[in-house]
Amino acid sequence: MSLNGTEPQLIGSFLEALSSGALEVLDLTAPLSSGTPSLKLPDPFVNLIDFRLEEVAAFNEPGPFWRHNNIHTGEHIGTHLDAPAHWISGRDGDDVSQVPPRRLIGPAVVLDFSGQAALDPDFTVEVADIQAWEAEHGPLPDGAWLLLRTGWDKFADDEAAFLNIDDTGSHTPGISAECARWLGEERPITGLGVETVGIDAGNAGTFDPPFPAHYYLMGNNKYGLTLLQNLAQLPPTGAMLIVAPLPIVGGTGSPARVYALVERRPEPTEALAETLGAEPTL
Ligand code: MN
Repeated sequence: MSLNGTEPQLIGSFLEALSSGALEVLDLTAPLSSGTPSLKLPDPFVNLIDFRLEEVAAFNEPGPFWRHNNIHTGEHIGTHLDAPAHWISGRDGDDVSQVPPRRLIGPAVVLDFSGQAALDPDFTVEVADIQAWEAEHGPLPDGAWLLLRTGWDKFADDEAAFLNIDDTGSHTPGISAECARWLGEERPITGLGVETVGIDAGNAGTFDPPFPAHYYLMGNNKYGLTLLQNLAQLPPTGAMLIVAPLPIVGGTGSPARVYALVERRPEPTEALAETLGAEPTL
């Protein structure tokens, strides 16, 4: 069925590209289980509970024909979205149920700092690093999700390595306070996505202001996304992100499924390669 007797062109092309494999769907979400690494706040702060499944029925007396579980979880567990209401700077802003769906779909840009983070786990991205990227790839697009590749996803199955905590705190990469302010106030991005357990660097409690990525993004009606995987498979520009948190009423964040759509050029077939190699036939 269609209006005016015409098929919807955009959705049709989109679905065709998905079936042909010209558009690939990548899952950037970390599997969610009781083993998923989670933020460990130092005393006296109180931590959220980890994700846990509680079996209620499993084809037994409580439910002979079915299996179902209760889930127990903090909001900010696993791959999750930080809504503006999460932070003191955005406390009157949207909770996670109020985040407009339109803003959850947008261009993805990937900035790769895995080399620097491998040499220094406390590496922080500066404004100049992003400006250097913009000089090569163009300005950060309107509504972009800025994805920070640090290589940290390789530790996601080992919580100790992932959190990298010692006597002086946690040591994981992030962005500097000035970079956070600049992204929050001066760049038209929708949000910041990271591979680490939170959008701030591990030792960002010592920054001014503390946890500046949270402070300046949430304070400017922008979002955070954590524990992303597979960023290495994304191009620097040209991918599209689809972020799907649960609409928890009054929630400050939610575990989220995050997909990237990436264009794949098909491998040229032999016939096509011959055609491409042949003289133009005009
Ligand atoms: Mn969070």
